[in-house]
Formats: sequence, C-alpha cells, structure tokens
Amino acid sequence: MKIHNFSAGPAILPASVLKEAGKAAVNYQGMGLSLMELSHRGPEFTAIIEEANTLMREIIGLPENYHVLWLTGGASTQFFMAPMNLLNEGETAQYVDTGVWASKAIKEAKAFGNVEVVASSKDQNYTFIPKDYKVSKNAKYLHITSNNTIYGTQLRKFPKSPAPLVCDMSSDFLSRPFNPEPFGLIYAGAQKNLGPAGTTVVIVREDMLGKVQRYMPAMLDYRTFIKENSLYNTPPVFPIYVSMLTLRWIKKSGGLKALQRKNKSKALLLYDEIDRNPLFRGTVVPEDRSYMNICFVMNDAYASLEKEFMQVCEANGLVGLKGHRSVGGFRASTYNALPQKSVQALVDVMRDFAQRKG
Ligand SMILES: *Cc1c(COP(=O)(O)O)cnc(C)c1O
Repeated sequence: MKIHNFSAGPAILPASVLKEAGKAAVNYQGMGLSLMELSHRGPEFTAIIEEANTLMREIIGLPENYHVLWLTGGASTQFFMAPMNLLNEGETAQYVDTGVWASKAIKEAKAFGNVEVVASSKDQNYTFIPKDYKVSKNAKYLHITSNNTIYGTQLRKFPKSPAPLVCDMSSDFLSRPFNPEPFGLIYAGAQKNLGPAGTTVVIVREDMLGKVQRYMPAMLDYRTFIKENSLYNTPPVFPIYVSMLTLRWIKKSGGLKALQRKNKSKALLLYDEIDRNPLFRGTVVPEDRSYMNICFVMNDAYASLEKEFMQVCEANGLVGLKGHRSVGGFRASTYNALPQKSVQALVDVMRDFAQRKG
C-alpha cells in the first residue's frame, strides 16, 4: 500500500533523495565505504558542504554579507544561542508570541537581556497572527516565527521593522521565496522541510555579530562556525549530506517559486475540503492559515467519530495525522516533499467518510 506521510517532523523527504541517501549510507560513490565512515575533512565531505552552501545561497538568493552555517542542537538551541550572540545585558530584544516555539524562545532570551513581548495571541490559543504592533527602533532585533507548526498559522507577510528580523523558520524554510534583506538571522531545524534531524541551518548577516561583551564558548559562538566553515568540530555529516541532496531536488523542481505554487495549491485543496465538509472545521482564522501545517478538528456534533476517522485514515495509508495535544484533532503537514496526490488521497477519504456518516 502507498503510504502518505503527513508527519509534522521528522517529516517526509523526496523519494529520490532517500534513495540516493540509502546508497551513500552503504557505499558512497563506489568507494566501498559508507559516507558515515569518511572523514569530515576529506575531499568527499568538503565537496558536499561546499555544494550545500552554494545551493543554499543560490536558491534563496543570499547576498554576500550573509553566512550559511550548519549547526547542531536543533532549533531549540537557537532559542538561546541567538540572544547569546546578539543581545547584551541591558539591551532590549522584541518578540512576537505566536505559539509554543515562540514562547520557548522568549523564555530563553530572558537570560541574556531585556525581552519585550510586543504582541501575543496566547489568550486566544494562538489561533491568529497578531499584526498591529510597534517595534521600537532601539530594539536590537525583532524575533518572529514564520510558521507555527503546532497551531497551523503562518505569516503571509513579514512585519516591517526598523530592527533586524530574527526568525525561526523551522517549519516553512524553503517553502516559498523571500527577500532576505530584512533578516539579521534565520534559523531552521532541518527535520521539517530539508533533511533528517541532526542539523540546524543558521543564516546570519555579518553586521549582526561581534557586538556582545560576554564570554562566548567556542561551540556557541556563530563566528567560530563562520571562521571554520561549519567544520570547527565534527559536523553532522550525514544530515548535511541529505540536506544537500534535498537542495539539489529543490533546484531541479524549479526553486522556491515553483515550490510555493505547489504548496499553496496543496494547502488550498485541503482547506477547501475542510470548509466544505460538514464533519470538519479549521482551527485558526482563515487569513493566517498555514500552507505547511493544516490543523482541523471534527465539528462538535461528530466529535465521537474522531477515533474512527483516524482508523480509516490509517487503513488507507494516511499516517502522521494526529493533531498536537494542545490543539487536538488532526494536523496534516504538507511540506515540500509531500505530493499533491497525497493531499488528494486525504480529501477523498474525508469525503467518503462524510458520505457514510453525515
Ligand atoms: C520543530 C520546531 C522547533 C523545535 O525544533 P528542534 O529542532 O526539535 O529543536 C522550533 N521551532 C519551530 C517553528 C518548529 O517547528
């Protein structure tokens, strides 16, 4: 049976990428060695990380004054590593609280400087993206989360801010084109839209760095990784390789514009069904709906059918649909690698289920 993977992360990767990665795991380029057995300072991995950096710059359209870094520790490490590198004690950073991940970032930043939460949708269970707020030009940066993986909201437009943007892009990184210029720093755990868990991409603008006074351990200082081209210590070789393969796939697929078109079309297909189907409803305001993580629940009159619907999904090869515990219901993650036909398969099951039960 064909399996359709709607998991929120670790998440679906392109089949061609997995196939190539499988070969490299056993015998890299006919060398009789696994890529996992090769030195990270050898010519093979040097070529891989250079290609990954070149593709990343090309795909996003990154200006020269941005660095691409491959780190570890997940996006969660960036919650403290970003303020540690960017914010002095006594200085202020502003944050928008749009969900669980944003609020964790806020909590960690407080250890390094003043944190001002300029807007929050917490008291409405994060069902919308706040838009009317002022960012002080004295703020060191404005921290935002481009896509809220758990609640299924997404910034359609990035806020205008006199301060540089620092953005957690984990769950919609490389799903659409964006102008990098307002961003001082971007971070994304690979396992949502780029590769396996184990590496985190950081894109940082040169002028953001070197302005804090505190002691910086080498492993937590972005400048260490800039200087050593992400090879200060042993990097996560295999996750970086697989991410590079995904970057090749993105380029071959037509780049971010083409992916944006496909992602939008997949998301609208599912949202249309959620809105049309009497059994289901969306959980967030329509204008802020995510094109990556689509949350929906059963209407109250049908709430008792939730378990049965999940079973029907699984029987049809639709997996990873359970909603996060803070929202309940269902969450279909429709990342870059998820084909339109997987969304169609889910829509068909929803229709069929409604016909039988409605
Ligand atoms: C998954 C996720 C995180 C946490 O990522 P880890 O790599 O597990 O630390 C942070 N932010 C967002 C938006 C996420 O989707």
